[in-house]
Amino acid sequence: MSPAEQAAELLAQFGIANKGEILSHSPIDGEAIGRVEPGDPDAACALAAQAFEQWRVVPPPRRGELVRLLGEELRAAKERLAQLITLEAGKILQESLGEVQEMIDICDFAVGLSRQLYGLTIASERPNHRMMEQWHPLGPALVISAFNFPVAVWAWNAALALVCGDPVIWKPSEKTPLCAEAVMGAVRRALERFGAAPEGLIQLVQGGREVGEALVDDPRVALVSATGSTAMGRAVGPRVASRFGRALLELGGNNATVVAPSADLELAGRAILFSAAGTAGQRCTTLRRLIVHESVADQLVERLRALFAQAKIGDPREPGTLIGPLIDENAFAAMQAVLGETIERIDPVPGGFYVRPAIVEVATQESTVMKETFAPILYVLRFRELDEAIDFNNAVPQGLSSSIFTNDIREAERFMSAAGSDCGIANVNIGPSGAEIGGAFGGEKETGGGRESGSDSWRAYMRRQTNTINYGSGLPLAQGIKFDVSP
Ligand code: NAD
Repeated sequence: MSPAEQAAELLAQFGIANKGEILSHSPIDGEAIGRVEPGDPDAACALAAQAFEQWRVVPPPRRGELVRLLGEELRAAKERLAQLITLEAGKILQESLGEVQEMIDICDFAVGLSRQLYGLTIASERPNHRMMEQWHPLGPALVISAFNFPVAVWAWNAALALVCGDPVIWKPSEKTPLCAEAVMGAVRRALERFGAAPEGLIQLVQGGREVGEALVDDPRVALVSATGSTAMGRAVGPRVASRFGRALLELGGNNATVVAPSADLELAGRAILFSAAGTAGQRCTTLRRLIVHESVADQLVERLRALFAQAKIGDPREPGTLIGPLIDENAFAAMQAVLGETIERIDPVPGGFYVRPAIVEVATQESTVMKETFAPILYVLRFRELDEAIDFNNAVPQGLSSSIFTNDIREAERFMSAAGSDCGIANVNIGPSGAEIGGAFGGEKETGGGRESGSDSWRAYMRRQTNTINYGSGLPLAQGIKFDVSP
């Protein structure tokens, strides 16, 4: 079945109208697969602001009930939603299923969180006083998402924002609008079952950059959580800052793996294949730089060349395919700009941009090695001492993910220490990609500094209030200040 035919079936099953000015294409064969209507940013912000008035006073565990129902609806839609992700984003079905599972996992996490929005009790220096802090809902949260994780990133944000008491506006990638429409079907069913949620609590606003900008600039949006390229973050960050809004930026990565002499090379080889070539190199956490000890470099690179040559590239719907297409012609052009004539294009499906992942050995890190080319190119660099490898790891402007393969506990600990990797994620004996929702996800430097998903990332979606309560009859001042008007 062609992508267009399969999409028509899926859209009918999801009840998606399939009309409007925004056209979606499948990277599998480049053909159009559906249409959506652009949204109205102003109307969405007005509705979200109204919804906030009601939602912020709903008890958090009750808010969690809505997210629990959403998780149930996503479980029921998992297979079909994954098929649509594969059609529209081009990732293999296994990865699409994993992406929907990630949405379900964060819903489960958020349901538990809805009973654990803990604040501190703080010792007061004043007699008969008590101090505490509370976490209150922040206001409407805008989620801007990228094409490569067309639905999971929304869920990471939305599940937390909803239990934290914030309405959610979603501006998905203009390259994957249909996946967003399908998710809204699950949202609508969850809202119906929930009953009394305010209108405008969860909204979808389709459109490109201009629509994103209008939402980013709207003062009714309290939090802008934006996932995408560093160029996008450079535009969005200052706009939000100029109106004193809160921004959570999840931007580009340039991730490295260090392979030490003691590493299990068999394990490393398999992990590197998945991290560098999986999702056709189109993950923010994709492995782009392999920093390998000179004593094992030849052996590892030979093994990787064999693994890369064997990996089946083709229609991502077919079982056995490990690498699907690049998202579009621009992605192919960006890869070609780096590789020139050596780019290996193959044509398993006419119209799509399919490439063999490339291994490029370099002596130093400059020009394109310092940049994120969103395609499967693995640069290989050799090192002699661990400190040199850590310096290489940290020398790029981005700071998202990193890992080390070693069986030496000192090396592993040093890599994760304050003097080690400067990234938001530092793994041992696994690749840099493939995070779980339980941890806080995000990175430093040009990756934007935001954290979302697990751990205490929920705090970004709430405002902190410090309370001091006097239960005595005196009025002692802090720091022992005397300010008496006694007769
Ligand atoms: P992109 O920057 O082109 O677009 C991302 C989103 O931002 C889209 O919805 C787009 O419409 C919107 N946008 C673009 N400019 C905007 C502006 N000025 N104002 C408001 N919205 C704007 O990114 P992409 O090509 O869709 O995705 C790939 C990039 O995303 C890569 O750089 C990748 O590393 C990054 N990414 C990062 C993470 C992370 O968590 N750190 C996760 C996924 C993807």
